[in-house]
Amino acid sequence: MKKIATSNILALTLLALAVIKVNAQDADPALVEQARQLSDARSEATFVRQCTVEPARFPGLGDGVAAAPVKLFDNLYYVGRTDVGAWVIETSDGLALIDTLYTPEDAANIIVPGMRQLGLDPDDLKVVFVTHFHGDHSGGAPYFQERGVKVMLSQADWASMPAGAAPDAASIASDGQVITLGDTPITVVLTPGHTPGAISLIFPVFDQGMRHTAAVMELSPRGGVDVHREAVEGIEHLGEFFARENVDIALHPHEMIFDPVARDFIMGGAQGDNPLVIGTEAVQRFGRMVDLCWQARIVTLEAVQ
Ligand SMILES: [Zn+2]
Repeated sequence: MKKIATSNILALTLLALAVIKVNAQDADPALVEQARQLSDARSEATFVRQCTVEPARFPGLGDGVAAAPVKLFDNLYYVGRTDVGAWVIETSDGLALIDTLYTPEDAANIIVPGMRQLGLDPDDLKVVFVTHFHGDHSGGAPYFQERGVKVMLSQADWASMPAGAAPDAASIASDGQVITLGDTPITVVLTPGHTPGAISLIFPVFDQGMRHTAAVMELSPRGGVDVHREAVEGIEHLGEFFARENVDIALHPHEMIFDPVARDFIMGGAQGDNPLVIGTEAVQRFGRMVDLCWQARIVTLEAVQ
C-alpha cells in the first residue's frame, strides 16, 4: 500500500515537472493549448511527450524484462516485454505476430514460450509484421525468417534492415494493403515520421464476441521540419482510417509511454474489466491531439531554422 502511494506521488511529481516543461518550452503555445484541450487522463502522457520539442528519453526503455504473456481479447494476445510490445492476432487460418522485440533470443525466450503458455502454436505463425526497422521491434525478425515465416515491413524500412532490401515483393507492406488471414483482415497504413517507413496496423478484435477495431501505431517523429510535415500527413491519413474503420482501440509498441491505464492492464496480467476499448471518439481525438502537437513543433522548428 505504502509502495503504491509513493509511486503515485512520484508519478504526479514527474507529470507536474513534465507539464511545466511544456509550458516553459518551446512548441507553439497556441497550438499546444488546442492540443491540451483534446487531451484527457489517458492521453495526458502522450500530450506532454508529443507537445515537447525534444522529449526526454523515457527512463526505463531498454531496461525491460519479459512481461507475463496475456490474452487481451478473444483473438489478441500480448507476448512482449515491459518496455516494448509484441502481439499475436489469432485468426481462423493461423496467427499473425506484430513486432519481434530486440533479438532472436527475445523471440526464442519470450515470444515463443509466451505463445505456448497461452495455448498458441508458434508453428501456426503465417506472417510477422514489423512496425519499423528499429532494433527493439525488428531484432527478433531473423528468428522467424529462418523458420520460413514471412516477415513484412514497408519498402522504405526494409532498406534500413541489415539485409538492405526486402527478400521479395510479398514481404513489402504497402499503404492501404489489406492482408487477410482466414476471417481476419489486417490493414497496413503507412505512417512515416518515427522512421521513413513506419507502419500502423488496423484489425478487428473481439471482446466476448463483441467486435471492435484496434490500431497498433508507432508515433514519435524523429527529425526536423520535413520529417514532422510527413508525420502530420501520416497521422491525418491514419485519422481517415480511424473514421472509416471505426477504430475504438489505440495500442502502442511502447505502451508505457502512451497510456498508463492500458500499460497497467497489459503488464498487470489483464485482470478485471478490460479498459482497452476507449471508443471511436477518443481514438479520433487522440489523433487530432498528436497532429496539433506536431504542428506546434513545426512552428518552433521553423522559427529556429
Ligand atoms: Zn523506434
